[in-house]
Amino acid sequence: MKVKVGLVKCNTYDSKELDTAIEKAMTLSGGIDVKGKKLLLKPNILSDSDPAKALSTHPEFVRSVIKYMQKAGASEIYVGDSPGFQKPGYTGRKSGIRQVTEETGSIWVDFTKETSILKTENAKLAKEFKVPSVLNEVDMVISLPKMKTHQLMYFTGAVKNLFGLVPGLGKSKYHVTYPNRHNFGEMLLDLLEAVKPAYSIMDGVIGMEGPGPGNGYPRPVKLILASPNAVALDTIASSIIGYDPMQIPTNKLALKRDLGVNHLSDISVEGLKVKDVKIDDYRLIKSKIFQNVIFDLFHFSVFEKFQQKMKPKPYFIEEKCIKCGECIKICASDANWFEQGPNGKFVAVDYNKCIRCYCCHEICPVDAIEIRK
Ligand code: SF4
Ligand code: SF4
Repeated sequence: MKVKVGLVKCNTYDSKELDTAIEKAMTLSGGIDVKGKKLLLKPNILSDSDPAKALSTHPEFVRSVIKYMQKAGASEIYVGDSPGFQKPGYTGRKSGIRQVTEETGSIWVDFTKETSILKTENAKLAKEFKVPSVLNEVDMVISLPKMKTHQLMYFTGAVKNLFGLVPGLGKSKYHVTYPNRHNFGEMLLDLLEAVKPAYSIMDGVIGMEGPGPGNGYPRPVKLILASPNAVALDTIASSIIGYDPMQIPTNKLALKRDLGVNHLSDISVEGLKVKDVKIDDYRLIKSKIFQNVIFDLFHFSVFEKFQQKMKPKPYFIEEKCIKCGECIKICASDANWFEQGPNGKFVAVDYNKCIRCYCCHEICPVDAIEIRK
C-alpha cells in the first residue's frame, strides 16, 4: 500500500484558514486516531525569535494543530522543543509557542529537566539517545517541522526536526561523532526509528530559503503537508522547493532502510499536485553531487578528513559580531575562541579542528557568521 502525503494550500496564518487546511491535509493523508491518547507535539523552535523571521514553526500553526487534536479526542497534549544553545528552563515565549500552549490548556515541557535513555535495536550507528522523559509518558509523538533549508543537511523537515528531542548542548556530541552528512543522516534515521513519530505536519505557509536554518529569509510557500511517514513528507517537501529529493541525505539513506518508503513510487501525493506548486527559484543550499558520489563509495577516515576540509568554512565577521560567545559555547570541537585584537576581542577559529557542523552559524543571533569557501 502507498504512503500518503496530504498537500494543501494555505495562504496565511489566519486561524480559520489554518484550521481548514490542517484538517484537509490530515484527512487526505489518512488521518490518525488520537482518541484518549497522550501526545507530544514537537514543533521546530530554532531559537526564541520573532515568528516573522520564519526560523520556527509558527505559533498559530501549533495552535491549529492543538485544536485539531483536542477536537479529535486527545486526552493530554504536551508541547516542547530544546534549541541547541538554550539553557535549562527555556521558555519558548518569544516564539509565541509557550503562550499558545498555555492558552489552549496544553502542557509545556522543558526537555532538559528530566531525561531518560531511548534505545533502538535497528540502529545503523547510534543505538541510544538521551531524550526527555516525557517520551515515556506519551502514546504518540507528532513532528511539526518548518519547511527550511539547512547548511549541513541541505533541507530540514520532519526527520531532522526530531533532533530537537536531544536536550540542549547534548546535540553537539552527535556532530562530533558523526561529522559528515552521510553518518549524520544515518544517525538522524536511527533517531527516527527510536522515536517512531506517529505523524508529521509541516508548516510550509512561510518557509525559509537561503542560508538556513538560522540565517535564511522568509519565503511564502503557502502550503501545508501531512503524512504518517516522515520520510515521505520530506521527500515531497524537498522536491517542491526544487531539490532532487535524492540529494537530501536522509531521504536517500532512508530508502535503503525499512522505514516504510523503499522507492519514490511508494509515495502517493493527495490533494494538490507537486508539479503545480513546485518552486523553481527557491534559494537552496548547493549540494556537492560529485563529493557525495565519491563519499558514498569510500567512507574511510582519511578520505573523510579530506572531504571535511573541502567543505565551505564558517567566517566570523568582526564588524557584525556582538561578542555574545554563543558560537564558542556550542562548538563541540573547541575550534573557536575569543582572541584580543587591535579593535577589541574577536572570534578566532582553527579550521583544522573545525568539523564544519555549522552549529555556530545556526545559533549566531546577529548573522555574523558566513558559510563560504
Ligand atoms: S555567536 Fe555571533 S555574535 Fe556571538 S560571538 Fe559568535 S559570531 Fe559573535
Ligand atoms: S567552528 Fe562552527 S562549524 Fe566549526 S566545528 Fe565549531 S561550531 Fe562547527
